[in-house]
Amino acid sequence: MNNDELWRAVLGELELVVSKASFTTWFKDTFISEHANSAIIINVPNAFTKEWFEKRYHDTIVKTITSISDGEITQVTYKIGSLESVTPVNTPTNTVIQQPTVAAPTQTEQPNGPIPTGPTSHGLNPKYVFDTFIVGKSNELAHAASRAVAEKPGTAYNPLFIYGGVGLGKTHLMQAIGHDIAKREINRKILYTTCESFTNDFVQAIKSGQTARFQSHYRNIDLLLIDDIQFMEGKEQTQEQFFHTFNSLHQSDKQIIVTSDRPPKALPGLESRLQSRFEWGMIADVGQPDLETRIAILEAKLSEKEYSLDKPTVEYVASQIQDNIRELEGVVNHIMALHQLRNQTPSLEDIKEVIGSLTSQTSRGSLTPSMFVSTIAEFFDISTEDLLGSSRKKHLVFPRQITMYLMREELKSSFPSIGQEMGGKDHTTAIHAYEKIKKELDSSEKLRQDVTLIKNILYKNT
Ligand code: ADP
Ligand code: MG
Repeated sequence: MNNDELWRAVLGELELVVSKASFTTWFKDTFISEHANSAIIINVPNAFTKEWFEKRYHDTIVKTITSISDGEITQVTYKIGSLESVTPVNTPTNTVIQQPTVAAPTQTEQPNGPIPTGPTSHGLNPKYVFDTFIVGKSNELAHAASRAVAEKPGTAYNPLFIYGGVGLGKTHLMQAIGHDIAKREINRKILYTTCESFTNDFVQAIKSGQTARFQSHYRNIDLLLIDDIQFMEGKEQTQEQFFHTFNSLHQSDKQIIVTSDRPPKALPGLESRLQSRFEWGMIADVGQPDLETRIAILEAKLSEKEYSLDKPTVEYVASQIQDNIRELEGVVNHIMALHQLRNQTPSLEDIKEVIGSLTSQTSRGSLTPSMFVSTIAEFFDISTEDLLGSSRKKHLVFPRQITMYLMREELKSSFPSIGQEMGGKDHTTAIHAYEKIKKELDSSEKLRQDVTLIKNILYKNT
């Protein structure tokens, strides 16, 4: 087995044990550069990766490589160096990793934008700092990447793309980077904005004929944090604006950080040129924390609120709330409220009740798309065939759009799969339906009531 084959075999094994995001992030552009007797040297693209391999993956790599080489190789060290510096070598990782190659980060001068004057209003929540962020297996990649970006904004990884489910710490991490940089460099212009308010700003700017001002506002920033980019799906004009903003900032080495509920490739409503730009830098996921991490987070939240619960209760709560850290905080708030109300420490029974009432509203595990279809058809008194059909009659189109909206909101289904479930419609139809209902919910009380009623029926049935 030559070095290439050996490394490919190792990568094949590692791919099975690390998350996809970690794998793509850390193992692209790595290869065996030297092999002598029982020792090999693995080349990695930068110092950050080297440190991460030594700290985090070393044991796994050694174990895998020893077993693949039948005990021949027992020593592994890491060296910084790119493929170009070593010839001739085939790219061993090409077959495994489909990410575009990212140029090694270059050290650049400070951005030479205009000198900022006065204080910045960056809209960061003071609670979301690194000090209050608990690191566990589920978020250590995203955390390490965030630390690296905070240390070297614009040069470590640009953009940084953090994705993961609701309530798992994306906003917290993103803002922690902002705080960290703001603390050290008070003159940096930092802007945190949600995708929605970016969109609204843009729409306002068009209405009032001030797009030039909008552009110069967003392009004059040193650190741009855009939260929940998935809401830009299907909004072509906003994407176009964002694309130019992105390019302008990126070209002058201004840091961009983006969060999303899914990785770039799973955002079909985003233009592909934007998707591919998001892959230029680092993509890191936050996953669901394990029990140990949830206990640590719960304890941190308790001490932040200067409240305490006994150990069995902490463990019980952490074991029950698994997929959303915000819910963990919600439970603490409920328990504290109950304590105040009754003026006595809530019993475990009380706490079980609190959790039961909170989780019954949110348990989506057993709901399926076809349950949405049948429930909504019944609710509007139409047949499921009509609901899934393509008639443009208003009394059918509207329930159809609500169905797509709810599948998206409640099941977090992707737009293509929603289209599929709805009788084989195009993903753009699903995006349009989602956006339309979402917008109408703002203005129509009747629609809000209908949606609430439908949700009640759905969740009562599960
Ligand atoms: P997301 O943006 O992913 O939906 P948030 O960043 O808003 O999630 O996090 C939800 C809540 O959970 C916040 O109050 C946040 O402080 C808390 N949280 C999430 N992850 C952690 C963590 N690892 N350590 C401490 N608190 C966390
Ligand atoms: Mg968020």
